[in-house]
Amino acid sequence: MTTYFRKNILNLKAYSSARDEFEGSADVFLDANENPFANEFNRYPDPHQSALKIKIAEVKDIATENILLGNGSDECIDLIIRSFCEPGKDEILVLPPTYGMYAVAANINDVKIIEVPLNEDFFPDWKKIADSISVNTKVVFLCSPNNPSGNTFSLEEMELFLSNFKGIVVIDEAYIDFCLQNSAVNLISKYPNLIVLQTLSKAWGLAGLRIGIMIANAEFIRVFNKIKPPYNISGIAQSSALEILADFDSYANKVKTILDQRKVLTEKLTEFSFVIKVFPSDANFLLVKFKEADRVFTFLLNKKIIVRNRSTQLNCENCLRISIGTPEENSRLIEALKSFN
Ligand SMILES: *Cc1c(COP(=O)(O)O)cnc(C)c1O
Repeated sequence: MTTYFRKNILNLKAYSSARDEFEGSADVFLDANENPFANEFNRYPDPHQSALKIKIAEVKDIATENILLGNGSDECIDLIIRSFCEPGKDEILVLPPTYGMYAVAANINDVKIIEVPLNEDFFPDWKKIADSISVNTKVVFLCSPNNPSGNTFSLEEMELFLSNFKGIVVIDEAYIDFCLQNSAVNLISKYPNLIVLQTLSKAWGLAGLRIGIMIANAEFIRVFNKIKPPYNISGIAQSSALEILADFDSYANKVKTILDQRKVLTEKLTEFSFVIKVFPSDANFLLVKFKEADRVFTFLLNKKIIVRNRSTQLNCENCLRISIGTPEENSRLIEALKSFN
């Protein structure tokens, strides 16, 4: 299984931090060149984020050995591309329109990007994907629910692809909490080439803390632990996330409100004559096709309401992506649109 990684990554000896070499309890810490005068932040944080991983493992019903935390999923995406793809030689495969960071991370690492567009309803064309794969295609990114379209890909179809593809399949589940379909995390014990990405940025409301979650087989996680920056999650991010994760009911209530609001907003938006289509969404946003998206965008901007203009993305002509806000924010959006003409 280790053959998936680039040779230099496998041969790498990890940097061993002071906090790696001593675990346990002591009274006097003179091992890390920290400032000895105590304030809340004078010590380095836990490089393994042990307490936070135990909590995340509990909430998500997975094992801590299958978890790596990144400074946002964005760090995980970069780690994946750097670990499996030889610069100037290997390639990743993405399905546009999709999350832009896969391509950005690939470009930074001089890794080629193969694009196989989603169809008009934003579902994968598995035959075309299979035909586009070469020996150099090391990683395929599947974003489900997909950003910006909001739809979920069939878990059975993704599993079939996983079982046939020789490289790494990343299933980005940033929006899984808003979706009825099961997560792919239960498949990691069956498919060593599967990496699932989740995040605390969306449903858990912690975008500002920057905590992304990579879930994969334990051997992969051990290798990734060698290459991630030792202190990639700050101490305050770890402790704040632990506090928020302790209140599951609050999380569940917020997700429920967002799902209720998604339905309300979908119905109200559909009524406007200048709306062509509200795409079905399994996420916390709606992709909406307008007659003239640019005019709606500017109109809302002048009312101090910002949405995301996705018109230039493949198959997203005249589309705006609208995040589900609080009930008050959503009403303000609808009221504003009532005076658009
Ligand atoms: C928002 C989002 C993420 C989350 O990124 P973080 O770096 O964890 O905040 C990941 N993937 C997709 C598709 C997203 O839309």
